[in-house]
Amino acid sequence: FHDRDGVIWFDGEMVPWRDAKIHVLTHGLHYASCVFEGERVYNGKVFKLTEHSERLVRSGEILGFRIPYSAAEIEKATNDVVKAAGMVNGYVRPVAWRGSEMMGVSAQANKIHLAIAAWEWPSYFSPELRMKGISLQISKWRRPAPDTAPTASKAAGLYMICTMSKHAAENDGFQDALMLDYRGLVAEATGANIFLVKDGAIHTPTPDCFLDGITRRTVIGLARRRGYQVVERAISADELKDFTEVFLTGTAAEVTAVGRIGDITYTPGEITKALMLDYDALVNGRLADAAAAE
Ligand code: PMP
Repeated sequence: FHDRDGVIWFDGEMVPWRDAKIHVLTHGLHYASCVFEGERVYNGKVFKLTEHSERLVRSGEILGFRIPYSAAEIEKATNDVVKAAGMVNGYVRPVAWRGSEMMGVSAQANKIHLAIAAWEWPSYFSPELRMKGISLQISKWRRPAPDTAPTASKAAGLYMICTMSKHAAENDGFQDALMLDYRGLVAEATGANIFLVKDGAIHTPTPDCFLDGITRRTVIGLARRRGYQVVERAISADELKDFTEVFLTGTAAEVTAVGRIGDITYTPGEITKALMLDYDALVNGRLADAAAAE
């Protein structure tokens, strides 16, 4: 990914893509003092840019560091990168981390860096698969408790269990993994939130140990706008067999149908399809954003 043309915004400057480098003794690399965002560009504009920029700042604060740019400055830098890339539809990755001045667990004086890259990324899962439904393997890794890890931060360190879960799932022929939490409750996929449908109502786990995704909130708004009942509650793994439709939401995944969790199969139905279409209409400016407000 490092060997391509283009520019990356790096600590306030646009640098050639290949020159956006860090030292190997970077604290963020050794001790995971690093937070990031994932954003999507539709028709040249970042969807929910303010929400993402504010979450990035908050994620850093949760890890105990202050990004030396305000959310408004991060927004401007992001828009500059998207413009420099001439991007119409794509993905943006802001990342902030502790630098390499001190080496050791304590690194109070280390400089906080920020970089923002943007690239073309059409679909997280192929369009056919998104309609048909992807398969999820239940991971052996659990989402940690909020007093065990900084679960409200989009912290790079939390993605260690996501990568292990996703690789295990892929190696066993699944597209993604479903992670349970430390209590054994249904939590989320490796990069997206989960929704489950039963008797015309939409159920989704209470986000008390994983990200309350920006897409999750948007889709809850879209669902209520359509008059669907949305219930946020604790969902046990034993209940998975009781649902008829399942879908994921996330900036990258957008709204993606799930066709199988372990041995249980689901058929993408009316609710999943309606929300896929509504989300597509919203991000492409065919539905007023106000309509999606909760
Ligand atoms: N959970 C995880 C682990 C994620 O990586 C993401 C993607 N950021 C989400 C949920 C969904 O968050 P959002 O809708 O804000 O992209």
